[in-house]
Amino acid sequence: MRALRLRPSSAMAIYAHPDDADVAAGGLLALWASEGCAVHLVVICDGAKGSHAVKANPAKLRSARREEMQLAADLLGASSVTCLERPDGGIENDEALRETLVGLVRRYRPQVVLGPDPTATFFGGVYVNHHDHREAGWALLDAVAPAAAMPLYFPGQGEPHQVDQLLLSGTHEPDVVADVTLTIDTKLKAVLAHVSQLGGDDEAIRNVVYGRAEQAGRQVGVAFGEAFRCVELSF
Ligand SMILES: [Zn+2]
Repeated sequence: MRALRLRPSSAMAIYAHPDDADVAAGGLLALWASEGCAVHLVVICDGAKGSHAVKANPAKLRSARREEMQLAADLLGASSVTCLERPDGGIENDEALRETLVGLVRRYRPQVVLGPDPTATFFGGVYVNHHDHREAGWALLDAVAPAAAMPLYFPGQGEPHQVDQLLLSGTHEPDVVADVTLTIDTKLKAVLAHVSQLGGDDEAIRNVVYGRAEQAGRQVGVAFGEAFRCVELSF
């Protein structure tokens, strides 16, 4: 495990659901944004199935989650938020999604792309990684390596762009930890902005966010960290 020293001027986080980026990488995104990095968020799903309540209203949930997502993005200092409005549970790594992602990568030209590691399916015998997380991960990998960098892929989607690094979260093979000690409080606020996804027990959420960050940080000797699998694409 090594400490992540990367300080990009532009980054893009591509995640399935409105709260995923904040949970996975909110500390690092807030840190980079505070240093002047242009942070672009891409959220693929509309969040309208994100409730265990039988009587939840999908339309109300969709609009609530949109507001929560914008509030959280503002807290992180994001430069832009793009929601692709696919239905929850409906992400497929299809050509239409890859083309959209390639278009966004070529438009915003990020040095680093963050997103879910699609190879992680089971966690600790108690959690199956969400279908949307896995499909979002495969789609972003295919969009970034190699499609966005090669002109004959989706020629109508702008000038080719080579992303330098991928940082994948929710991974079983982390190899870098970012020091997010300076922004862990901002991360917590961004996570708490997703009120519709929380049970009302902010203290419990706080303990989970801080506990996970302490565990990750310990591996590289910092108070709070976020762990990723790093892939160097330009060498
Ligand atoms: Zn999710």
